[in-house]
Amino acid sequence: MLKSGWQRIVIKVGSALIAPQAKGCSTRYLLAIARFINECRQYGVQVVLVSSGSVAAGKAAIAFPHHPLPINIKQAMAAVGQTQMMATWSHLFDFRCAQILLTHDDLADRRRYLNIDNTLRTLLEHQVLPIVNENDSVATAELRVGDNDNLAAMVAILVDADALIICSDINGLYSANPRVDAAAQFIPRVKQITSDIYAMAGGSHHTIGTGGMVTKIQAAEKATRQGIDTLIINGQNTDSFETLLRGEPAGTLFVRQQDRRSAKKHWLLHSLKSQGSITLDAGAVQALLHKGASLLAKGVTAVNGQFDKGDAIWLCDGAGKQLAKGICQYSSTELLLIQGLHSQKISEILGFCPSEEVVHRDDIALNN
Ligand code: GLU
Repeated sequence: MLKSGWQRIVIKVGSALIAPQAKGCSTRYLLAIARFINECRQYGVQVVLVSSGSVAAGKAAIAFPHHPLPINIKQAMAAVGQTQMMATWSHLFDFRCAQILLTHDDLADRRRYLNIDNTLRTLLEHQVLPIVNENDSVATAELRVGDNDNLAAMVAILVDADALIICSDINGLYSANPRVDAAAQFIPRVKQITSDIYAMAGGSHHTIGTGGMVTKIQAAEKATRQGIDTLIINGQNTDSFETLLRGEPAGTLFVRQQDRRSAKKHWLLHSLKSQGSITLDAGAVQALLHKGASLLAKGVTAVNGQFDKGDAIWLCDGAGKQLAKGICQYSSTELLLIQGLHSQKISEILGFCPSEEVVHRDDIALNN
């Protein structure tokens, strides 16, 4: 079932599948996608869904006679359509769905990034299906990611996904646009994303969604660079999902450029500059080195330097040896107040508790 080793995947579904007539949502193509999501979850694979369609769905409610649509009209359509899109998905599942609306700014801001990461992680731990979209009703042009292909790649990197599956209304990448060029050849596998690959993608040839093949290649480039396999499949064709479930290739596979875990480790250890350090007691050192556990406030004996929530810090043993680098959920000022305490005490002392862990195990890279 699925490619072995996939534990977490991000599935992106485009507007052309959600609102194929560009007026209101339809379950026509969503049933097979929902079944696929269900199967993945049954096999223990965690799924995050990035769903477009709010603007296309909202077109049924806000009448506007001509194109291009002014921004206020699009934003109003998104506000109406988003609830319809969520309701349509929710009806297809027996489990709960959660809505996450993001802007580019949310992903660029270190603190908000950490909050989104915590929320998604918690939803997945509780078997809720997160459904992510851009917050189209409030995002201004400068703050937008602009298309859900790139948004989905950012989400895949954020949640440490093993694979990003982009469901489109086309089989995958062709050497030219197959809708206008009969000689276009299908490309099943891309090892390296070069300018030739971008040239094959050409411009957008969609009328319903925002993205085209180019934004899909951009998304694949972002994700594969971080060790995430990326697929573009035809979401209108149920065979795509059956093939994937059998562990066979479907659509176009963009092969990841490196192992995801080593990509994250490299980023943490070498790209993120540490802003301080904390000292761990012997129990926390053991748990860190031998159990791959998260770090709790209880195990912290000293805080060195000044850092903010979301900064990278060194985790050291009593002798000052830098054992690991991690992203801290608390600022140094907050940590000084809660070090050595049980997690239940955090709210009492600080008045809030963003997370029980001081450094989550997913955000730790051992320095070895
Ligand atoms: N966020 C947009 C929507 O929900 C879609 C963007 C896209 O199609 O890439 O309508």
